[in-house]
Amino acid sequence: YEAKQNRSGYHFHSPQMTQRAKERLKLEQSLRQAVEQQQFSLLYQPQFYLQSGALRGFEALLRWTQGNTANISPLQFIPLLEETHLINPLGEWIFAEGLSHLKKLREQLGSGFVLSLNVSPVQFAQPQLVENLTQLLHDRNIASSQLEVEVTESTLMSDMQTTQKHLSQLRELGVKVAVDDFGTGYSSLAYLRQFDVDSLKIDRLFIANMLSSRRDAAIISTIIDLAKHLELEVIAEGVETEEQRKWLLAHQCSTLQGWLVAPALPLEQALQVPRQLSWNQLPLDKG
Ligand code: C2E
Ligand code: MG
Ligand code: MG
Ligand code: MG
Repeated sequence: YEAKQNRSGYHFHSPQMTQRAKERLKLEQSLRQAVEQQQFSLLYQPQFYLQSGALRGFEALLRWTQGNTANISPLQFIPLLEETHLINPLGEWIFAEGLSHLKKLREQLGSGFVLSLNVSPVQFAQPQLVENLTQLLHDRNIASSQLEVEVTESTLMSDMQTTQKHLSQLRELGVKVAVDDFGTGYSSLAYLRQFDVDSLKIDRLFIANMLSSRRDAAIISTIIDLAKHLELEVIAEGVETEEQRKWLLAHQCSTLQGWLVAPALPLEQALQVPRQLSWNQLPLDKG
């Protein structure tokens, strides 16, 4: 930072900040256009039960596929979509697209799996959220129990009435609720007293270090214990190695998701995923 003195006193000037602000504005404009022109797609990452190897379901993951020359990842563009509230129109598209794909997945794989959609805290403030979803499920003749929403800890902690109302309505509808990135957000367990969630997803940061860090391993076993006592399912995210899988199996984690089995796949490849996995046949043939 350079501090320059002018008549009105000190004036701070940062060339990096101006540059960053410009880039942000440009990105925001391209995102606006991307939402209008539907330049996005959904990929599906399978989840499998550790004990039985049976398919548990798929998490839908958003990709910006067209006109994204810099190949910007969801970790960068989703926060911006949230800040600009563009996540609301896009979220409606995600619901519609996800549920049409769910119909195709059902034709191939039967109805014994769940589809998980990530729903941002911003979307929970939308008055029409549950109504829209109910309508879509009804139009496509899909049982709400085959749908799961992944919410963040900040959604659960929100003191906004609309958010709280929507969470209860979703549960009443029979939609499953998973807490995403568990352990990385607000470190309060109070919301677990208030809400009947269905599962906890252990953030992949813990999984990545579990074999080298005793602390991460301790945190993971504690989350697994907590889930067991609350009778919740516990899903390990970002499992990349056979060693991690064995550790999780030995510690009675219920479900696994990660590159060890498969990355997020285009629908055509997700349709080919086996309903029953044999661990010694890993990795899956990804086509
Ligand atoms: P998330 O919901 O926690 O999703 C898991 C992320 O971990 C995904 O990143 C997935 O591709 C990645 N992943 C899965 N297995 C592995 C693995 O074995 N190793 C590694 N290194 N990574 C793995 P992705 O797709 O880049 O998404 C990042 C985040 O963006 C998501 O984190 C979620 O918070 C958000 N997101 C993605 N799609 C949507 C969406 O449709 N709506 C909303 N609101 N947010 C979304
Ligand atoms: Mg997620
Ligand atoms: Mg997650
Ligand atoms: Mg995550």
